[in-house]
Amino acid sequence: MLPFKLIYSDHYYLPIGDHVFPAEKYRRIRDRLISTKVAGPEDFLEPQPATDQDILLVHKPEYVQKLKTGTLSPREEMEMEVPYSRDLVEAFWLAAGGSILAARQCLQDRVSISIGGGFHHAFPDHGEGFCMIHDVAVAIRRLQRDDKIRTAMTVDCDVHQGNGTAAIFAGTRTASALLPSASASTVEQPKNAPRGKMRGAHAGEVFTISLHQHNNYPLWKPPSSIDVDLPDGTGDDDYLAWLDNALSSGLRQFEPDLICYIAGADPYKEDQLGGLSLTIEGLKKRDELVFNVARARNIPVMVTYAGGYARNVEDTVSIHANTVVAAKEVFTEVRHKGSEPLP
Ligand SMILES: [Zn+2]
Repeated sequence: MLPFKLIYSDHYYLPIGDHVFPAEKYRRIRDRLISTKVAGPEDFLEPQPATDQDILLVHKPEYVQKLKTGTLSPREEMEMEVPYSRDLVEAFWLAAGGSILAARQCLQDRVSISIGGGFHHAFPDHGEGFCMIHDVAVAIRRLQRDDKIRTAMTVDCDVHQGNGTAAIFAGTRTASALLPSASASTVEQPKNAPRGKMRGAHAGEVFTISLHQHNNYPLWKPPSSIDVDLPDGTGDDDYLAWLDNALSSGLRQFEPDLICYIAGADPYKEDQLGGLSLTIEGLKKRDELVFNVARARNIPVMVTYAGGYARNVEDTVSIHANTVVAAKEVFTEVRHKGSEPLP
């Protein structure tokens, strides 16, 4: 039995027909985890859909109304890049409910993984890039409203920049004023920034980190607190060094009550929509790095899966399943002679 919970429902499936987004990946990840005995049926929790009230913590009433009544304009539907249906609306409300449950669950178990979600291209007033509702932002706002957390940090490792996340949390005081986003070199900047300034963060604040390929969607990248714009073809070693640097920089300035890790599988070298060159092993090391940092600092971490468009869908499933393996390895306490004392 895992020392944490996996959040999953068969209804995470997105009814979008023949599409580059492999909507069946969620069920395949679950099946893989069970067939390889990484997890058992008892490790899974079934989420409830978010309420309209939850969705409205992030999204504009006019947009929510259009979704609920099927009155998006053809242009709005085209921008979303997934075909509108009532069932699709329900799947996104469920993804948001899954992220709320994962966020709550990780506060008691240190980590929780939703085998879904991570729709980081959704904005308050519109959807784009396969994303209708920003499930992670909804989860953060719901837990803040319930006084379960004051602050949060998003760590977005999808190959595409987290434009929705950056836009949604731009209004809160983040380090974007200290860290103008431009290129990977700006990650060095926090060393010169006034240290400790963000450490006494105000309730409601969300610090956003995005590591992504520069030459890729979205064309317009609203600034995150830290953006790492990676060049085409970045491989495992460089990627891991930048991630380590961004996490250290972020956590030097900001002490979050929750980390929301968006573990996209699309930095993979065989991805159809990505242009980075990470291997399956490198992506697992990426997951381990995020989990080790969260564990060492005692910050609860929730995970969502976002994109993954490998030519062979089994690779996408392997990368996502490995995220659970990495969490299991990092968060299973193994005491043996010579090991460091656990915190
Ligand atoms: Zn992506």
